[in-house]
Formats: sequence, structure tokens, C-alpha cells
Amino acid sequence: MSRRRPSSAEGIGSSGSPKRQDPAGENPEGGISPGRLFVCPTPIGNLEDITIRTLKVLRRVDLIAAEDTRKVKVLLERYRVRRVPVVSYHRHNEEQRVGYILEYLRRGRDVALLSEAGTPGISDPGERAVRAAIREGIPVEALPGPTAFVPALVVSGLSTRRFAFEGFLPRQAGARRKYLESLADEERTLVFYEAPHRLQETLADLLAVLGDRQAAVARELTKLHEEVLRGSVSELLDHFTVNPPRGEVVVVIEGCRPPEDVDWEQVLREVKRQREAGVPFSEAVRRVAAEAGVPRRELYRLALKAEAAPDSEPLR
Ligand code: SAM
Repeated sequence: MSRRRPSSAEGIGSSGSPKRQDPAGENPEGGISPGRLFVCPTPIGNLEDITIRTLKVLRRVDLIAAEDTRKVKVLLERYRVRRVPVVSYHRHNEEQRVGYILEYLRRGRDVALLSEAGTPGISDPGERAVRAAIREGIPVEALPGPTAFVPALVVSGLSTRRFAFEGFLPRQAGARRKYLESLADEERTLVFYEAPHRLQETLADLLAVLGDRQAAVARELTKLHEEVLRGSVSELLDHFTVNPPRGEVVVVIEGCRPPEDVDWEQVLREVKRQREAGVPFSEAVRRVAAEAGVPRRELYRLALKAEAAPDSEPLR
């Protein structure tokens, strides 16, 4: 198990001076103590959304590794963070950059890791550097701060008690649908990141696979044109078909209804009706589960039982 070291609140953050053992970074045992890797969230739109602690850390680290160096320079200029070298750290140079960052850390220097927006490691590069640092026993501190999925979930009006953050769905239609199928019985609220030009397709797939559940699309959070639309998936799809979205979006959709909240008699009647109309068994279950927003596996089990013994009580 890794041990906790002084946090930035005790070191860089509050006292103002990094807690290294001596100026050369030597510890009492004679070796050089490693520096710290600070994972720093940055604004997702509104430049004021950065914490005082993050700014303190940015002013005092020895290196800033940023996904988008141009964007970060605007932020650093705004807060007069100067003289700290900035290097790029993105998907295409991540592996090689991790080695470079580790070299800094091993020499007792502190490094701040930033993504293009929001929290590094959340649908953004960061995970590799964090894992590599942990492997070497280098202290890692993730500072709290902006990330898009939390405000989107909170403002959606859907249940925040339990939720599953799913990041981006697969881009290919087949893979996306298959992935959504695997979420059909998920009772927690689901949160997805999506690109604006794929929103319509995604809403159409959500409708087809998960049914016409309640959902919300949070667009341009923290920005001038922030907008949150709430309604059923089909209503949202209609809206965005007429008004193609611009900017960044998060999609939040309610989870599947828990089995105990379902009127199974009624749902099974609908399966029976579809079967009598000639719909194959699995297809009838899939359709009815999506339309009624009920757990498919449970419906499958009950419908199978009902077909096997039509005169028995299906819910026992
Ligand atoms: N690391 C970021 C975070 O912590 O949220 C996420 C980066 S990911 C590459 C970008 C996605 O986040 C966008 O496609 C969108 O789904 C979501 N996003 C980022 N900023 C947003 C904003 N201001 N409003 C709505 N969604 C946003």
C-alpha cells in the first residue's frame, strides 16, 4: 500500500513553500525525495472557474504539462502565472512525455498536469502519467475542480443518488448500439459525453435501445450560451433535429426502472399482444422493454415463463 505524503494544502498550498527536505531535494536518508505530480482541473468554459489552490500550485511547480499548450497559455496569462515552463502532453506523445515528466519528478521537481479543459484523466489524457507516478512511489495529488459531467448531472433534474459516468460512446453505429444494449438494465442515471455533430445519432440510438426515457442535454456549460434541455429522449431528438446543436454537450438519461416499480402484468400483456401479431419472442421482449423502460433480462425471464405455462401465474 502506498503511503500518504504531505498534501499541497500542507505544503505548496497553504504555507506557500514546497515541503522538500532541503533545497537540493535531499531527504534525511541521503537520497533525493521525488517531487509531486499535481493533477490540475482547469475551466470548461468560464475562465473564473479555477480554484485559488490550483493557481497557487501552478505558480510554484517546476513544470506544467498541458494537453493544449496554446489554451493553457491564455489561462496562465490571465492569472499572471509566468516563468513556469510548459510542455505538451497529449494523446499522441503521452508515452514519451510520461518518461520526461517522471524524470522531473525523480529529481525532486513538482509537475502540474493539465488537460485541455476540465479534469485530466476524465475522457482526457492523464491516466498514464498518474499510473506511472504511482508505480514509482511518487506522490500524486488530484486537486478538486471543474469537470463537465458533474454540473450536467446535477442540473439534469434526474436522480443524482447513483449514477454511471460513461464518457464517450463508441463512434461506429454498430458498436455504439451494442454498447448501449449492455446498459439496458442499468438502474443508475447514465451520463455521456458527446460531440455536437453526433448528438442526433446518439439520441436516436438511445431511443431505439433504451426507450423513451427522461433525459437532459446540457450544452455549453459555464459559457455565455449555456442551455439545459430536459424532456423525453424523443422530445430532445425532435428539438435537435430542428435545431442542430453547437458547442459542447453532455447527455444525461434516467436509468432503467427497478423491477419492483414495474407493473409486470401490463408489460407482459404487451409482449403477448406483440407475439400474437407475429413478432419473434426476443424482438418482442426487446421492443417492450425499451418502450416501457423496464429491465430486459427480467422481462425475458417472466415472458419465457408466461409462454411456457400460459395458464399459470407469471409473477411467481
Ligand atoms: N476532461 C473534461 C472533463 O473533466 O469534463 C472532458 C474532456 S472531453 C475531451 C470533452 C467533452 O466534455 C465534450 O465533448 C463534452 O461532452 C464535455 N464538455 C466539456 N466542456 C463542456 C461544456 N462546457 N459544456 C458541456 N459539455 C462539456
